[in-house]
Amino acid sequence: MNKRVNNTQLVHADRLLNRPQHGAVHEATNNSVLFEFEDVADLEAVFQGKKPGHVYSRSSSSSAVSLQNMLNDIEGGAGAVAFATGMAGISSMVYSLLQAGDHIIVSQYLFGNTRSFFQTLSNFSVNVSYVDVTDAENIKNALTPSTKMVFCESIANPVTQVSDLEGIGALCHQHGILFVIDNTMTPSPMLDAKALKASLVATSLTKYIAGHGSVLGGVVVDLGNYDWRQYQNIDDKYKVADPAQWGLTQIRKRGLRDMGATLAPGSASQIAIGLETLNLRMHQTCNNAMALATFFENERSVKQVFYPGLSEHPQHERATRLFNHQYGGILSIELADSLDMRVFLNALKLVICATHLGDTRTLALPIATTVFYENGPEQRAVMGISDKLIRMSIGIENVADLIDDIQQALKLAAV
Ligand SMILES: *Cc1c(COP(=O)(O)O)cnc(C)c1O
Repeated sequence: MNKRVNNTQLVHADRLLNRPQHGAVHEATNNSVLFEFEDVADLEAVFQGKKPGHVYSRSSSSSAVSLQNMLNDIEGGAGAVAFATGMAGISSMVYSLLQAGDHIIVSQYLFGNTRSFFQTLSNFSVNVSYVDVTDAENIKNALTPSTKMVFCESIANPVTQVSDLEGIGALCHQHGILFVIDNTMTPSPMLDAKALKASLVATSLTKYIAGHGSVLGGVVVDLGNYDWRQYQNIDDKYKVADPAQWGLTQIRKRGLRDMGATLAPGSASQIAIGLETLNLRMHQTCNNAMALATFFENERSVKQVFYPGLSEHPQHERATRLFNHQYGGILSIELADSLDMRVFLNALKLVICATHLGDTRTLALPIATTVFYENGPEQRAVMGISDKLIRMSIGIENVADLIDDIQQALKLAAV
């Protein structure tokens, strides 16, 4: 559990960390693309990284920097860079830090779009190994002299495998390899990625952090655990000032300035407001998900339930240890053969049949034919995704209302 995060801190972070003008409690949304300097020497100094400031909003804006400050504070990190989307953060971070000939070990249970991105990465002569990250031993066996990075999710979706974050953290630390956790599923305070020796966390802000299905964003936080002086791919240009900042400087320069994956100021402000209630929403979401998982477990019309909170889940004890007795908002189910999945989904009235997760509303989705369709049957089998799997992202509604809705739909789905 990440003890740095609590409700008091979340609701006061903007005013205390960013000190907005005029006594405002929110940093203003500043849409200016360009910035004026009275003395050209100051403009030059900011360009050269010798002074803080903004020169052009593709590279930085006050709204994005304020959000970065808050997200970095939560993780206890050395710095953060915000991006236009979660995928922009992941792809910019990877493209900025890897080179042709490098090797990277990634989870075989990845979010579908991330998996697809790593396949694209293979076209750039980066070797990608897909391993079962529920056991760090598999990572150890896949190491090569050119391994630069290990990338996994805390809880994988849709089948909810929990990565061996403790084992992988120790292994990467020992070998000087970057360890990146996609922490979209278990945002603070659920997971303390810094204590697990992770180097970077990449999080989709679109999901639980913004929380309301109204804005896209992503972030990469450097947790300050990795010594960048040992990383071979840092360009000499970015080896300025404090070595703790080398990695993020390269990610910022390449990802934002060169590739343009910048978070818009208006989006940053909206995400900052979502962040204030992250704890409250996460708490209700996890409680609802646990109640629904228990309901499904006792329901004869449901064949299988995947949720780390259930004692028969293969990584239940690890999840309890890592996430402080909370188990996230994603659960997946497979209906009994006597039920029709499509009839069930169409019969849901309150639960929305939609892709997306981490919303205030409960969502359900047939996963093999949608997000993981492009991956094909072989990859889906490796990921444990059956054709009849339904992924549910649990919201903050009254759980009794959710159960009522699901019960009536299960009745109608019996064939
Ligand atoms: C949604 C998601 C992403 C991508 O985030 P976007 O903001 O939609 O680009 C990355 N990783 C995980 C685990 C996700 O659920």
